[in-house]
Amino acid sequence: MTDAELLEIEAKKSGKRINYYISGFLVGTAVVAMIGVPWYLVAYWEDFKAHWGFHLLYFSIMFWFAAGSITLGYHRLFSHLSFKASWPVKLFTLIFGAAAFEGSAIEWTTDHREHHKHVDHDEDPYNINKGFFWAHIGWLFVKFRIDPPFDNAKDLLQDKMVMWQHRHFVTIAVITSFVIPPLIGWWWGGPITALGAFLIGGFLRVVAVQHATFAINSLCHYIGDRPYDDKVSARDSWFVALVTFGEGYHNFHHTFQHDYRNGVKPWQFDPTKWTVWILNKFGLVTDVRRVPDQKIKEAQEAVRQRQLAAK
Ligand SMILES: [Zn+2]
Ligand SMILES: [Zn+2]
Repeated sequence: MTDAELLEIEAKKSGKRINYYISGFLVGTAVVAMIGVPWYLVAYWEDFKAHWGFHLLYFSIMFWFAAGSITLGYHRLFSHLSFKASWPVKLFTLIFGAAAFEGSAIEWTTDHREHHKHVDHDEDPYNINKGFFWAHIGWLFVKFRIDPPFDNAKDLLQDKMVMWQHRHFVTIAVITSFVIPPLIGWWWGGPITALGAFLIGGFLRVVAVQHATFAINSLCHYIGDRPYDDKVSARDSWFVALVTFGEGYHNFHHTFQHDYRNGVKPWQFDPTKWTVWILNKFGLVTDVRRVPDQKIKEAQEAVRQRQLAAK
């Protein structure tokens, strides 16, 4: 019996069909972002006008740090082992990855490795065949964590830094997302700016990063091209790549999941790939994995041949 089936049985036995803890957080943060931010703008317009540059910069930096730590750390490093990282890179992505409120690195990795292994089937946690809403966010409302075994992430169970982040995930996430923003806002402009930073750099940023990640599981299995594998639902979408630091090239990624690149062509927008490349030049990451060009060409040719035969 699979882990997903065991959880389903447990959930039925206990009468719990909804994970109120995760659902409450997802709905609560979205409501605060959608109502709290417009309210703040109306109520404290003068303060916002004086400090809009600060709010924009702080939101952007935190979006970049958190979403970038998910793509470079949680995804390409921990889930796919597409390169080896030095401890400062690991620590940075573990701390700011927590700020995305998408679970600890080992929890995220467990789900994501299941997604790749069983893509488009029942055991895929965010199976697109259950609908767009399910793949985007619905699966999280009924998600119950198995604690332990993480049996598809045994490598991470041995990693002291990853397990430290797992144990202290909530503390790290709350401090980086909801304690530091108002403190920095207060330092910059006083109590009203602190409230603005709490709402914009905190709540709005958390919701924005989450939905950018969720779009990979929904939009990138829904719209776009399939140049490397036309049998999988994953698609290449330059549009999603723009807001996800390059993760939108999802058809390539599902075909060659260990490659550190998602946007494999030099002109494709993939800042995560460029960051790994730069970190490699400075010796901060090593053993960067690339699929040989010939294999990529062969995959594209196979799709072309199938399409010709189908005509
Ligand atoms: Zn996928
Ligand atoms: Zn992946």
